[in-house]
Amino acid sequence: MNRILIAEDEPRISAFLKKGLEANGFATTVVEDGNGAAYLARSQDFDVMLLDLVLPGKHGLKVLEEIRDRGEQLPIIILTAFDDVQDKVAGLEAGADDYITKPFRLEELIARVRVQLRKTHSPQKEEMLLQVGNIVLDLRKRQVQVAKRLVELPIREFTLLEMLMRHPGEVISREDLLNHVWGYDYEPNSNIVDVYIGYLRKKLGNKLIETVRGIGYRLRE
Ligand code: CA
Repeated sequence: MNRILIAEDEPRISAFLKKGLEANGFATTVVEDGNGAAYLARSQDFDVMLLDLVLPGKHGLKVLEEIRDRGEQLPIIILTAFDDVQDKVAGLEAGADDYITKPFRLEELIARVRVQLRKTHSPQKEEMLLQVGNIVLDLRKRQVQVAKRLVELPIREFTLLEMLMRHPGEVISREDLLNHVWGYDYEPNSNIVDVYIGYLRKKLGNKLIETVRGIGYRLRE
């Protein structure tokens, strides 16, 4: 399992990242200050680090410089609070591999994390095929097969199905699906999850996804 170090002091964002990454099969460690981040990066083995820049204790850029000064290759994606060009340039110059601007969607972040993992690992390390019953999801090709027939799914539907397929037989709340697929800044009372579940049912068959009234949805095993 790939391990992600999340250095982020805003609890709402770190909780969103932790939950979303874990739902996608990553192991996470959250640290809320710069000194702790530098210490963990030095003392434990991680596959990718997500690094907020404005951290208490020690600025993210300083943390980054320390890691690079030791010659560590750990892939680092910086999280910038605003569309701050200076921060991005400084971060990349200090040795960050990528950056992402808040607010961001989980699917975009995960795509960036996967790019970093592909650079440093053999592809076998991460599970790239998910199978539940006669549905097979190929994460690398972004393809879905139902009973060996290829079904085209746009990215949101794909991500929604992926989330359900990672937890077959478990009820997943609307809120979790909304956070995971649409991001933490999405309108919480929206019925968009139900609309998209409807799309999936149309394409994959009605019996596959069960509605659990008042809670959310469950993929039949
Ligand atoms: Ca911060």
